[in-house]
Amino acid sequence: MATGPSLEKRMIKIYIHTDLEGVSGIDSFEMMQRTSETYRRCCELLMGDLNAAIDGAFAGGADHVTVLDSHGGGNNFIPEMLDPRAENDTRPNKKWWGILDESYQGTFFIGAHAMSGTMNAFLDHTQSSIHWHDYSINGRRMGELAQWAIVASNWNVPMLMVSGDEAACVEARQFFHPVETAVVKRAIGRNRAELVDLEEARARIREAARRAVSLIGQARPFCPLKPMEILLEYNRADYCDAAATRPGVERIDARTIRKVTSDPLAILP
Ligand SMILES: [Zn+2]
Repeated sequence: MATGPSLEKRMIKIYIHTDLEGVSGIDSFEMMQRTSETYRRCCELLMGDLNAAIDGAFAGGADHVTVLDSHGGGNNFIPEMLDPRAENDTRPNKKWWGILDESYQGTFFIGAHAMSGTMNAFLDHTQSSIHWHDYSINGRRMGELAQWAIVASNWNVPMLMVSGDEAACVEARQFFHPVETAVVKRAIGRNRAELVDLEEARARIREAARRAVSLIGQARPFCPLKPMEILLEYNRADYCDAAATRPGVERIDARTIRKVTSDPLAILP
């Protein structure tokens, strides 16, 4: 039999996207405001969840793990707390997806929250809780989990694992299968949450991450049919005014814009 490069074991690379709302130990809106004295504690909690996911990924067989600090544009990581085995994506291209490319076999989403308009979801929103009311592609409402997965589909990278509040994990299961999830809290109204014990939460994350690596080969990238018809409804007409002037964008009513694209990297109008 012929042997060649195709039979060589491919290096397993995982890309971990992070947000803050769905991190273990964070149970109120006020706690995570950047101006609050508890914000530093939230960043430490983020590093705890992230390191649990990194450890799980390596335990599951990953050879390389890259991590992205994404909440509010970044600056939440405490670099000296990061597991030294992981590569920190500093986003040299200034894009949401940083150095993600086709060399990765899967992506995880740590600290997730549910899409705007979800009941019993901790700090539900999509991209901007101030500006965005509703977002859909091809008639299906979606939030940041699906948006990130579509971006990753540009390089055929599937979503393998999600951690966050219960509503975020339910949403993950509605969009991706197979997928591993780790529930770390449950919302009480929008702005409070009932927490899973911190050690238990991190153990769930580590275990979900470990199992998720074995989904490589089964999980498929999340790709809506193309071209994608995107509708974005803002909270107010004045937020829509500026967006409506962008190329390829059509305004369909006071608060709503429409865009049709086949480019997974152009889904945020
Ligand atoms: Zn966030």
